[in-house]
Amino acid sequence: MNAPTLLRVDATARALTVSWADGRTQRVAHAQLRAACPCAECTVRRRAGGQVDVTPDVALLGIEAIGYGIRLLFSDGHARGIYPWTYLARVAETETETQADAASGLVG
Ligand SMILES: [Zn+2]
Repeated sequence: MNAPTLLRVDATARALTVSWADGRTQRVAHAQLRAACPCAECTVRRRAGGQVDVTPDVALLGIEAIGYGIRLLFSDGHARGIYPWTYLARVAETETETQADAASGLVG
């Protein structure tokens, strides 16, 4: 999977916008990225049936490019997660589905 053509951090909305080479653009909340942190510690916690501690106002403070993906630095001090491009795309898709579910819930 190729690197995104654009990565943009929206500090106000606490969202990350990712544009891919195929023209697709995804938007994912910082809290969603933090909850999906793929580092060993967070992965073990999720596999054990628990949840990663995430406050809704957690913010993405930094992005470090590492070739096949990005390492993200969050406002809670957590900076261990490395998000390969394919994983980032998957997390962003999950976020979109969650928003759609929430919207239909409001209408119903
Ligand atoms: Zn983590």
